[in-house]
Amino acid sequence: MHPDLAQLFALQQVDTALAHNRRGLAALDDGTARKVELDAAIAERERREQALAELERRRREREDKLRATEQKRAESRQKALVSMETKQQVALYEQIEALTRAKGTFEEELLVLFDGIDEQRRQRDAQTAVVQRLQREHQKTVGEYEEEKAALEAEAARLQAEREQVLPQVSPAGLQLYDARRKRTGELAVVATEEGGCTGCNVAVPVVIRRKALQSAEAVQCESCGRILYVTAAEFAEDSD
Ligand SMILES: [Zn+2]
Repeated sequence: MHPDLAQLFALQQVDTALAHNRRGLAALDDGTARKVELDAAIAERERREQALAELERRRREREDKLRATEQKRAESRQKALVSMETKQQVALYEQIEALTRAKGTFEEELLVLFDGIDEQRRQRDAQTAVVQRLQREHQKTVGEYEEEKAALEAEAARLQAEREQVLPQVSPAGLQLYDARRKRTGELAVVATEEGGCTGCNVAVPVVIRRKALQSAEAVQCESCGRILYVTAAEFAEDSD
């Protein structure tokens, strides 16, 4: 067996775990998508709130007009009662009739506005419920993200420390071999054999190759995928009978 192979295999195990850890970290949902959805829901709620405020403003305006009309009508009635001139009385009664019609119009408009306000308030409240639900979901996602991120970072620190321990045990030549092979095979450069097969590509490795990997001081590669084969005596004995 190549003198550095056991250590290179240990290094490969750590590097594989680190790569898996990095992918896990990158794949975590940090809640960004939910935040976008939440912000849109908040904007929609604000729009409905403003629509409601606009209807309320129109309601107050109509109510003010109604009150002013009723007051003017009462005044005209009072004047008509005390008026001595027929011509003035006729004019006042015409004015009272016009004011009564205006009053009716304002009252009808107010009824429509009341309905509109009720409906708009329902829509606003429904949207408030949507916002609250999305807020809870977003908080939950962010909470889970922070927890998973912390766990993965702790694992990465542990793996990094493990790597620091393994690294000095590998000779510079061994390390060079490892790095060179990884440039060709990707992150997985050193693989064990299992039941006589390469765990890098799952192709059966001939006994002669496995024996060479076990006995020769050279690094022996899988003929199928080019990865360096790590064959232990126990595994060789088990699957070469
Ligand atoms: Zn292979």
